[in-house]
Amino acid sequence: MVSPRAAVSALPAYRPGRNPADLAREIGVPRAVKLASNEVAFPPLPAVVQAISQVAGETNRYPDNGAGVLTGALATRYGVAPEQVATGCGAVTLLQQITQAYVEPGAGLAYAWRSFEMYPLLAQVAGARAVQVPLVPGAGGGPADTHDLDGLLAALDDDTRVVLVCNPNNPTGTAVRRAQLEAFLDAVPPSTLVVLDEAYREFVTDPDVPDGTELMRGRPHVAVLRTFSKAWGLAGLRVGYLLAEDPAVAEAVRKTHVPFSVSMVAQAAAVAALASEDEVRARVDEVTAERARLTAALRDRGQPVADSQANFVWLPLGERTAEVAAALESRAVITRPFAGEGLRVTVGTPEEDDAFLAAFDEVAAVAAARG
Ligand SMILES: *Cc1c(COP(=O)(O)O)cnc(C)c1O
Repeated sequence: MVSPRAAVSALPAYRPGRNPADLAREIGVPRAVKLASNEVAFPPLPAVVQAISQVAGETNRYPDNGAGVLTGALATRYGVAPEQVATGCGAVTLLQQITQAYVEPGAGLAYAWRSFEMYPLLAQVAGARAVQVPLVPGAGGGPADTHDLDGLLAALDDDTRVVLVCNPNNPTGTAVRRAQLEAFLDAVPPSTLVVLDEAYREFVTDPDVPDGTELMRGRPHVAVLRTFSKAWGLAGLRVGYLLAEDPAVAEAVRKTHVPFSVSMVAQAAAVAALASEDEVRARVDEVTAERARLTAALRDRGQPVADSQANFVWLPLGERTAEVAAALESRAVITRPFAGEGLRVTVGTPEEDDAFLAAFDEVAAVAAARG
């Protein structure tokens, strides 16, 4: 019998999220609402649909392996050289490439926890030492939902090759501010690569939350990870990118890519999306306005929801999390529970969020009636 590597056997099996159409059928309602994966609710941009149909007739050919046009467009957009850019099949693939390029078996990969679920899996597959630093309460107190940059810094040692800072943090939505992050970057040893995972950067409204593409300037051990999956609305196409101050970092990441992994369709769509940035901004403004409404509505209900700088909100429900998520699901609302910790709810359309709030009220009423 063949057996996979021990690290792979130990990985949890992938559990797909509930599909809204299946759920609706199962519970006998016309439709279910999915607020579980932080996508935007808008359909693809018109220019994206047009670009996709234009390249559809060329897909018998391999894509440009270097994603030249997209790389050039990103370089122009961010004022960097093309050599500072690496594109990937979603930012998650770039995280894998970063780990392959920089983290030897046994070396350290550091990150805050709770954060993006993929980080521990990266360490496990790489045979790396996961250095997890617990979140702490934010400036206003309350639940532990914010990066502890001092703790993260103290946890680094000579053998920590990469530190991942998810800002804003998934799943808590909190963000670290400029002064703290700058001090952190300046204190991290130059031999440790800091990757600022800014998957939700476009939703940031607080001007004191720094833009990693500015912070990386003059700091060759800093790189920024972004994605077209969230604000840009291309989750189904799989495109992300890395911008590095040091071209050697981008090169190392490019060297570990799976050939042709950014498809021709994805490249064309991403270029078209970049050219439609004004429309994307208008959509993001709608999302952040709705985020404020959803946050206020939950606070009115007594929930200690932190200020989110992303397109989701975090309900620190603790031990009640799994039960509440299941009760919401039975009312046709799919959210993302982190058992024992909290519930992440993506900001949807006003109608979707009203459906969520109505279901949440019902669940609370049932719990109250039970005493
Ligand atoms: C969604 C997400 C990503 C990347 O998504 P891709 O779809 O692979 O580009 C990366 N980091 C965080 C924190 C995310 O939430």
